[in-house]
Amino acid sequence: MKITFPRMGTSWIGLKALFEGLGHETVLPPPPSKHTLDLGTKYAPEFACLPFKVLLGSYLEALEMGADTIVSSGGVGPCRAGYYTQLQKRILREQLSYDVRVITFEPLNRNWRGTYLILKDLVEVGFGDFLGALWLTWQKLLALDALEKESHRIRPLERHIGTTSRVVKDAFADIDAAQSVDEVRARTAVRLEELRAIPQDLAREPLRVGVIGEIYVVLEPFVNQDVVETLGHMGVYVHRSIFLTDWTKDNAILDAFRIPGEMNIKRAAQPYLPEMVGGHGQNSIGETILYAKRGFDGVVQLAPFTCIPEIVAKSIIPKVSEDYNLPVLTLMLDEQTGKAGVSTRLEAFVDLLTMRRQRLRGETA
Ligand code: SF4
Repeated sequence: MKITFPRMGTSWIGLKALFEGLGHETVLPPPPSKHTLDLGTKYAPEFACLPFKVLLGSYLEALEMGADTIVSSGGVGPCRAGYYTQLQKRILREQLSYDVRVITFEPLNRNWRGTYLILKDLVEVGFGDFLGALWLTWQKLLALDALEKESHRIRPLERHIGTTSRVVKDAFADIDAAQSVDEVRARTAVRLEELRAIPQDLAREPLRVGVIGEIYVVLEPFVNQDVVETLGHMGVYVHRSIFLTDWTKDNAILDAFRIPGEMNIKRAAQPYLPEMVGGHGQNSIGETILYAKRGFDGVVQLAPFTCIPEIVAKSIIPKVSEDYNLPVLTLMLDEQTGKAGVSTRLEAFVDLLTMRRQRLRGETA
């Protein structure tokens, strides 16, 4: 099979290793761009949320590059994620006449047998190599998350703007090229050292901002207009609420055995939003509260336009913000959103947080 899959942040590096390890050729579309979004918007229903459109555009690019199979995940809960791949399949096959196979992994706890049948079909290597591919994928994802977290810590301290982004980009390419777990670990150690060696101004005291919201827009820099990097270049330490390995542990592995994950977040959200509203809506509330308790200076909520879970969270956040005295900026993202507009809003938010910190420390008249 010539497999393509959703590009979401750096996750493609792990997924590429996985499918190649299972014995397939992978077709990696270019990083999402305006062209990708235009393509997706052209064929998606108008009401579809932004991630749907970007993914559809990405699949179209991959199909033009020769992909014949799309592998994606399904979803549960009261939002549209569960219908995504079904609708995309209909658009690609019936409306646009592509001869493409669409394989959807549903959450394990709902469909162990379905997952087994998909794997039986997908795995073209022996059991040992299958386990090896899973282990290598996991190690690559752990490495990518470790590198990204370190880049978030160092970026606001760097003496020359852009150094961290350049070093971490090379590090990602290095992890992509690694062929074994030993190689992944060795390269990660070297690249972490390289990041730590970046000239830094340790006298700075960066503001601390948490970034919350729907998983795709939080993880994919094209869709969120490089929010994490932009804030870092403004001298802000960003704590991203979602990393793929944590998410996989809490939502795929624990969930498979019906063990509730992210209980601290859900417990925190309880007084304001006791119900699951789909997507990351409940998490957005719980994480905002946890950031307040950890003394963060502010929170940025990333929400795709028309995303019901994040709209629900957005309607509750003002109350949370008032109760915990924590400024929250919501960015609604759609195909009209531009980088300049987002940067301007972030700049104003950072100014506000700086003044607030000075006031709290009694540094203003
Ligand atoms: S969480 Fe929001 S953006 Fe994601 S599928 Fe559901 S409605 Fe769409």
